Amino acid sequence: MFFNFFLFSLIGFNAISNIGVQAFNDFLALFGLKNIVAFEVQSWPVWGQLLTLFIVRDFIQWNVHRLLHRVEFLWEFHKVHHSVQQMGFAAHLRFHWMETVVYRTLEYIPLAMIGFGIQDFFLVHIFATAIGHFNHSNFSLPLGPFRYLFNNPQMHIWHHAKNMPYRYGANYGISLSIWDYIFKTAYLPADGRDIELGFKEVEQYPHSFLEQQTFPFRKKDS
Ligand SMILES: [Zn+2]
Ligand SMILES: [Zn+2]
Repeated sequence: MFFNFFLFSLIGFNAISNIGVQAFNDFLALFGLKNIVAFEVQSWPVWGQLLTLFIVRDFIQWNVHRLLHRVEFLWEFHKVHHSVQQMGFAAHLRFHWMETVVYRTLEYIPLAMIGFGIQDFFLVHIFATAIGHFNHSNFSLPLGPFRYLFNNPQMHIWHHAKNMPYRYGANYGISLSIWDYIFKTAYLPADGRDIELGFKEVEQYPHSFLEQQTFPFRKKDS
């Protein structure tokens, strides 16, 4: 939590992303473009803008999350998150900092095209982070029919299941579960409370923070 949410995200990454946004705008200026806004949402009421940002961003993240599972190189980084063997809200805090880089970079361009600013982005990010804590918590809160719309702990635990019938996993939803139902990647066969979590050979995965950070960069023997 201290590294991912404080040192890296709040201090490091915000500084880097300001430079990144500036560099991106300078790059556009080379072509005589001021911005890449393709849709004007600024005239909408604030709640409409934030809701749109939340939904669009969640859909982008669902796609990025699928990529993390499908692309071998990205999976090596995402494995840090899947190395948790017990579910609890702290599981949400465990991920490799490269994930932050991949998510933010792939999210930024489409969201900038809709004319969202970095402030709106930050607000939605904090809200989505809170939902993420909930989805990883050891907490049963049946959502009734709303489970088809919102992700929840009962659904996300199956995303972490060690034994999966599908090669690349299921339940990629971040805040919303609806994308998994629409694109048929939802998987919830039973109550998953005590299922085995992780991946093949998770027992051999390094346990220390530093080793987990460097592991994806190490050359694999196979
Ligand atoms: Zn995952
Ligand atoms: Zn997770």
